[in-house]
Amino acid sequence: MTNDFMETADRVMAATYNRFPIVLTRGDGCTLYDAKGRTYTDFVAGIAVCNLGHAHPRVAEAVADQARRLVHVSNLYYTMPQIALAEWLVEHSFADRVFFCNSGAEANEAAIKLARKYFKDRGAPERFRIITMEGSFHGRTMATLSATGQAKIKKGFEPLLDGFDIVPFNDLEAIRSAITGETCAVMLEPIQGEGGVRCPAPGYLEGLRKLCDEEGLLIVFDEVQTGMGRTGKLFAYEHFGMVPDIMTLAKALANGLPMGAMLAKEEVAASFTPGSHASTFGGTPLVSAAALRVVKILLEEGVLRNCEKVGQYFKDRLLELKSKYSFIQEVRGKGLLLGLDLSCDGVSIVKACMERGFLINCTQEHILRFIPPLIIQEAQIDSLIVCLDNVFEETAGKRL
Ligand SMILES: *Cc1c(COP(=O)(O)O)cnc(C)c1O
Repeated sequence: MTNDFMETADRVMAATYNRFPIVLTRGDGCTLYDAKGRTYTDFVAGIAVCNLGHAHPRVAEAVADQARRLVHVSNLYYTMPQIALAEWLVEHSFADRVFFCNSGAEANEAAIKLARKYFKDRGAPERFRIITMEGSFHGRTMATLSATGQAKIKKGFEPLLDGFDIVPFNDLEAIRSAITGETCAVMLEPIQGEGGVRCPAPGYLEGLRKLCDEEGLLIVFDEVQTGMGRTGKLFAYEHFGMVPDIMTLAKALANGLPMGAMLAKEEVAASFTPGSHASTFGGTPLVSAAALRVVKILLEEGVLRNCEKVGQYFKDRLLELKSKYSFIQEVRGKGLLLGLDLSCDGVSIVKACMERGFLINCTQEHILRFIPPLIIQEAQIDSLIVCLDNVFEETAGKRL
């Protein structure tokens, strides 16, 4: 059965993914089940998406109720779940206005367009360039892959969109030197996810705010991965003494239903006027109702507190492993966005963990990334640590 499914997939689907050889059929909390009846503890959460775990009954209920009522009518009309969600996001962030779309790339496209238009509207049309970071990830559309600071994402798709100047992450002087009369904004992830769980150096983001205020530049935070509680706060910028001008969200916003959002302060958001940007599906009643339930649960069920507490516990346990294995270079991250930087291949470790019933992720070939549902418990982390310890022991044996 499973092999038939996989053979069909390999024949009829675009070969854009190297999938692991399991067919997942059902989920419950932090547990996933495959077509052969095997179970896995999920430390991937659909790539930092299912923050409330799988099949959360209150989310399922919101989706089912809304599906019976109204799924989609377009943005030619007002719909209630979307308005309530926008109001919630504005009340709980620095922002004054929200634009809804369907993915992280689309949210970043909106941010790039808004940053450009803001300066056009202020009589500075020459300012359209955006400074972005090496190791960043902003998506796969032409504009967002052009903004992304990783060669492998761009290869084969040239010519790229003009207007992005890429500098090293965590280097304020590099940003200062890259600013010209054509610069309009600096766009970055407060913590780089895909790039390998890289945290900002102390003072970096605060310094960036000061620099951009002096130079009259906008700051765009791509919180597609770090937002919605992933780092222990609703948004990662709350850890630092500053706020951006524009922020993008997606991944966990509707716990697995596709949704993106671009948030901005009033003065900046004012450059989006009727007709300047749009999305047919953006913020449908269905996904908005799901997201509205998600944000309520995040606060009502103590999910942020769990993320912070269990995240610290997890990090401490990873540090114990680091003291034991010399091929662990560094433990990084905040909340439940944690990385283990290895000096050896990480993909074989992901496979070995999968065979033992644990799904983990590897980025940049050698950085293990742990992004479980934020409802994960210490006992589940203990089990993963035992598994990692065993797998590392074997790896260490092979390397001797
Ligand atoms: C995943 C991700 C994106 C792209 O999101 P899609 O929904 O896949 O388009 C953009 N930025 C960051 C930081 C991400 O982690």
